[in-house]
Parts: sequence; structure tokens; C-alpha cells
Amino acid sequence: MKQGTLALDQCGAFDRLPALKRQLETELVLASGRLVKKEIDDGVIKFVTGLADDLTVESVVIPMYRRHTVCVSSQVGCRMGCRFCRTGKIGLIRNLTASEIVEQVFVARHLLGANIRNVVFMGMGEPLDNLDHVIQAVRVLGDQRGLDIARRYITISTVGLIDGIDRLARIDGGPLNLAVSLNAPTDTIRSRLMPINRTHPMAALKDALQRYPLPKKSSIFVEYVLIRGVNDQPAHARALSRYLSPLRVKLNLIPYNPAPGSEFAPPSNEEFQYFRSLLEDENIFVRKRHRKGERIMAACGQLGGRSTASR
Ligand code: SAH
Ligand code: SF4
Repeated sequence: MKQGTLALDQCGAFDRLPALKRQLETELVLASGRLVKKEIDDGVIKFVTGLADDLTVESVVIPMYRRHTVCVSSQVGCRMGCRFCRTGKIGLIRNLTASEIVEQVFVARHLLGANIRNVVFMGMGEPLDNLDHVIQAVRVLGDQRGLDIARRYITISTVGLIDGIDRLARIDGGPLNLAVSLNAPTDTIRSRLMPINRTHPMAALKDALQRYPLPKKSSIFVEYVLIRGVNDQPAHARALSRYLSPLRVKLNLIPYNPAPGSEFAPPSNEEFQYFRSLLEDENIFVRKRHRKGERIMAACGQLGGRSTASR
């Protein structure tokens, strides 16, 4: 018998093997990280990762100049029910664990070979509805022994859960970038599009944004999906700029991406440009989010194909 084995035996480990085996079976979760599918359109890669329970999760790599952004999911589905969003139609199937969130970045970097610098939580799900796992994932992403991604390159996007924003403001290791899906200029319109607004109205959201400690030189990213005839009128631009005026923000204006059978329509290019110019006249910094990856349903609000719930 080899000396190492003898030493193990002497400390009684062999007697404990059945208990150890049971413990490993119940407590050891092996990361799956299986790349199930990938589709490429216009440089955008949508990829699907297989989870241990046979569900799948979708993520997107968006090419930038030299280094890329990966858009990760935090839940399978989402229970916030925003009316314009494809993921919202699925409802919540389950939260992702921290390791399932980190795995998406791992797959992007190591299985797809993408030079990832930015991580944005803008895939499926509401990150602040799964905050414990999201915070743990952020810690692993930022750790030098993990994926070594600096805080200033991580952005959490939320529908506006106020308790969650306040908790995020206090996490150890420094503040994260915050994006908020506003999508409407008034409570009436927002409550119609986003049920969360009925319990988390815009005034309370603004207060939470004003007290959020941003990383140095950073602004809050406000996302506004422009939908024809719903939130794209000149009066809407005026109300929106009044709402945003006390905040340090950059506005991401996103043309609505229609899903098959959708009740809403996107604005024309001219309508989009006109709305944009009204905001710029009010000195709001506006960026247009492109609809890259639309053909493979990899654009915003389009994640959540059939593969998510069943394969
Ligand atoms: N739940 C979080 C994270 C998901 S981000 C959040 O809502 O912020 C998904 C982004 O896509 C959100 O900004 C949302 O407003 C946007 N979006 C959803 N459906 C869309 C659609 N059909 N067209 C364009 N953008 C959409
Ligand atoms: Fe959920 Fe965000 Fe879609 Fe709303 S927009 S249903 S919060 S994923």
C-alpha cells in the first residue's frame, strides 16, 4: 500500500466515504456551461447555454471596437410582465444561480473566444428580482481569481425595483453602473406598459436614482423604447426631459423591436430622429441603440425563444 493511502486510512477517511459521497451528491453542483447553440448576425453572436435541469439560457455578445460586451441573463423568463417585451411574455420560470450567471461570461470568453470587457445585465430577467445571486455573480466576475472584470465595466439594468436599487447602492467593493428601463414619460403611460410602475411610481424611482452612488465620471443610463403613437409624441419628449433634468443621465433611445403578432409598432426613422432632436434641444445626451442581431432575435427584448423553456 502506498504511503499516501495509508495516511488517509489512518485518519479514518475510508470510514467516512459513504457520508462524503452522500454530501458530494447533494451539495456539489458541477457547473454545466454547455454551449448548446450559437447564431451570428452582423457580428452579433446569440448563444444558448444548457443548464443542469435541461432549461436553457440566452446571452448575446455584441462586438465593440476592440473588446466586446456580453449581455447576460439573470433569470429564465421574467415576472415583471412589461407588455412590449418578449421575455416578459414567458413569465418567470426560475432564478439563475450565481454560477449560472458567471458561466455565460465564461462561455463567451473561453468557448466563443470573444475578448470580453463589458458585462451588461440586459438579457432575460430582472436582475434586482434575483439580487443575492446577481451580487454573488458580480463578486466572482470582479475577482482576480474569477474573471477579473472591473466594476466600471459591469452594468445592471433594472425595471426600477426601488429596494433593489438601494441595496445595490450599498454593495461592498464599490458601486456598479446602473441602467433603468424607463420607457415612458408619465405614470399613466408607464403603468400601462410596465405593471411594476403601479407599485413603484416614477417619483419614487427618481428619488432612488438621485441617491444612487455612481462610479466616478459615470452617469445613469436610462433606456427608452420608442413605440409609435404610445410614447413618441412631442409632449412626451417635453415631459421626459423635465423628469430627467435633475439627474445625471445618458439616454439610450431604442426603436421598439416588434415580435410576431405584437400589439405595438416601431417608429419610422423620421419619427425616431424627430423625437431624438426634441430631447437634444433640451440638452439631454441621447444615444441610439441599434437593432443589431434582429434577424436572429438577439436584439433587446427579443430574448426568450422556444428553446428557453423546453428543449
Ligand atoms: N429586466 C431588466 C433587464 C433586461 S434589459 C430591464 O428591463 O431593464 C432588456 C431591455 O430591453 C430593457 O431596457 C427593455 O426596456 C428593452 N426591451 C424590452 N422589450 C423590447 C422591445 N420589444 N424592443 C426594444 N427594446 C425592448
Ligand atoms: Fe422583464 Fe425587463 Fe422584459 Fe420588463 S423589460 S419583462 S423587466 S426583462
